[in-house]
Amino acid sequence: MAAIPFTREAMLRQLSEVPEWDVLVIGGGSTGLGTALDAASRGYKTLLLEQSDFAKGTSSRSTKLVHGGVRYLAQGNIRLVFEALRERGILLLNAPHVVSVQPFVILCYSWWQRFFYGIGLTLYDFLAGRYSLGRTAWWSRKTVLERMPTAKPENLKGGIVYYDGQFDDARLALNIAQTCAEQGGTVLNYVRVTGLTKDANRKVNGVEALDLETAQPYTLRARAVVNATGVYVDDILQLDQPDRKPLVMPSQGVHVVLDKSFLPGGTALMIPKTPDGRVLFAIPWQGHVLVGTTDTPLHQLSLEPVALDAEIDFILQTAGAYLQQPPTRQDVLSVFAGLRPLAAPDSLTGNTKEISRSHKLLVAPSGLITITGGKWTTYRQMAEDTVNAAIRVAGLPAIPCLTEKLPIHGAIPASSIPAADGPGELARYGSDAAALQALMQTEPELAQKLHPDFSYTLAQVVWAVRHEMARTVEDVLARRLRVLFLDARAALAMAPAVAALMARELNRDEAWQREQVAAFERLARHYLPQPAEKTVVQAL
Ligand SMILES: Cc1cc2nc3c(=O)[nH]c(=O)nc-3n(C[C@H](O)[C@H](O)[C@H](O)COP(=O)(O)OP(=O)(O)OC[C@H]3O[C@@H](n4cnc5c(N)ncnc54)[C@H](O)[C@@H]3O)c2cc1C
Repeated sequence: MAAIPFTREAMLRQLSEVPEWDVLVIGGGSTGLGTALDAASRGYKTLLLEQSDFAKGTSSRSTKLVHGGVRYLAQGNIRLVFEALRERGILLLNAPHVVSVQPFVILCYSWWQRFFYGIGLTLYDFLAGRYSLGRTAWWSRKTVLERMPTAKPENLKGGIVYYDGQFDDARLALNIAQTCAEQGGTVLNYVRVTGLTKDANRKVNGVEALDLETAQPYTLRARAVVNATGVYVDDILQLDQPDRKPLVMPSQGVHVVLDKSFLPGGTALMIPKTPDGRVLFAIPWQGHVLVGTTDTPLHQLSLEPVALDAEIDFILQTAGAYLQQPPTRQDVLSVFAGLRPLAAPDSLTGNTKEISRSHKLLVAPSGLITITGGKWTTYRQMAEDTVNAAIRVAGLPAIPCLTEKLPIHGAIPASSIPAADGPGELARYGSDAAALQALMQTEPELAQKLHPDFSYTLAQVVWAVRHEMARTVEDVLARRLRVLFLDARAALAMAPAVAALMARELNRDEAWQREQVAAFERLARHYLPQPAEKTVVQAL
């Protein structure tokens, strides 16, 4: 099918030109985008609707690991680990510009730990088979302290090093959306599904939707409708069956971001057992250190969940026990929370660690297909299973899945990717980097930096609007660039310049600019923990 230009105007035109979609996906996180890409690449007429920006939900708030899940191995969930390790390998091949290999160390303070974790991680390698990213090895105390100079040295015996994948989750989501459009799929942000339509036999045959930018309502017909709305799947399920029991039990996970000096060097720290039995990571990410996460059962949903004080303290205290210089709240540059769409068992226990991380695929009597749970890492497999279900439900001509060998937008051979040198560098744009560089040559004023501490340029903002469907200041600062997640104060400082540039590109007036900056300031407060928040409120 012919590629659709990656602009909102071109996508909206499709809504009036296509009388019936083969597959209509609700939700633009990793699960929905993966499903839309799978369907479009098989040649089905595909539409994806996202109520906010792509990856606004959980899919931009992960630990940024493309992994098998060492923790699930400890729980004996070998099948899940095996599947995820295979998907990890496929993703590294298909998107080498956004996924990279990351060494992790488990610090050992007793010989028993060396023995126990050594066996587990050797099995992890074994399960990866031909997709292994590097051999698990023992590092002596001396090597650990050379490679991770801030690790606490008292009683340290050495460390076990193993390898997993790391990525930029929001950029991969965007790149999947771009690939979907290249395959002839239509993807729209800021269009919310508000209802389901049904035929005389009570079968779902489309959706009611609302363009949140223009308030234009749409009625869209589709042969298969997929509910991939993450923690919101129950809202869509209840549009279908108002008295349905909830399928998802949300659990909040929080990360804090610190200066690189807390973990210099390229090795990540994996803490396999926190005092309350969780796993915690401290990972070098885009020139900073990402530390998390937590697992807090919640009963309220929000697209902008807020970290609890207790979660921030838990992360800082736990990481601090392994670092020479324990981080404090004043050191936190940004804090963000995400909601896991854990598939709840029929009887909820309240203990989210026991609830399945593997995905759940359901087909309702109405034909509505719901996909939830799983991991970012396994999005491709989840998508394949979902489209296979759509073929059965809608009686579509059976076409085999192609995504295992389908390069993601931006993919270039790993050997030609320059080493990452901190945030703002162009490596993550992959094959788009050359065009971005050319833009800065033809319009040299766009080569200016947005902030003295970051290498982001004005050109990246213009690029985000022209080629990445960014519609708001938040879209740019939170997901096209990741600065809101890296350093919320720096993001606040960049907001006025970003708003001015976007207004020029999108032909908006000064009132729009003011409103955008104010909305971003309100949002950014949630990314600053208490003491820092006071400073910002005074500054505004
Ligand atoms: C703290 C944390 C850390 C994690 N770390 C990792 C990790 O390191 N590696 C890994 O593999 N996995 C990780 N995961 C899991 C992974 O992030 C999720 O499984 C995945 O992002 C879920 O994607 P999703 O598309 O199902 O949901 P979401 O990303 O939440 O997407 C659902 C989308 O649906 C949209 N939507 C809702 N209602 C409507 C509507 N009516 N109309 C239109 N759109 C709608 C929402 O706006 C949202 O964007 C982590 C999860 C959490 C919470």
